[in-house]
Amino acid sequence: YTGKGISNVIGEVLKQKKVNEIQGLPVAVNEETSVYDAIVTLFLEDVGTLFVVDNQNILKGVVSRKDFLKITLGDNDLNKLPIGIIMTRSPNVITVKDSDSALLAAKKIQEFQIDCLPVLGKDNDKIDDELVGRISKTHLIKIIAEIDI
Ligand code: ADP
Repeated sequence: YTGKGISNVIGEVLKQKKVNEIQGLPVAVNEETSVYDAIVTLFLEDVGTLFVVDNQNILKGVVSRKDFLKITLGDNDLNKLPIGIIMTRSPNVITVKDSDSALLAAKKIQEFQIDCLPVLGKDNDKIDDELVGRISKTHLIKIIAEIDI
């Protein structure tokens, strides 16, 4: 990397890495899951964002920590309330494809001020909107931390 600025180096590395090389496993529930059970899943799986899918694994929405905090402020029965009521619903969900660059994922996370993106598959034998992974700020930081200079 001699002669290059550090920001160029980071940009190049992020541009070369594909989302499917760095993505993690998605943690998903369905729309009927209660808010209570979803919060338990959040703790058990140690993630900040849950994805919501149908029984074909097609992405329907996302729920994050703030969505849960908001709903617990009200006088609601969390065991009766389905997650579908509070999730951010597609097509308002920001996503990436598994063949996109890590740089595109970083730009979307920055532009839309979110922590995490669902990764959708693009293999020919899969439906276009199928959820195949997740990419968080942590995955992007890991690439930067591994740059060898
Ligand atoms: P947190 O609530 O943990 O701070 P975020 O900042 O990611 O997490 O979420 C803020 C809001 O954005 C929430 O209402 C959440 O539903 C929504 N959100 C989270 N991820 C996405 C996404 N990929 N696309 C669209 N909206 C999202």
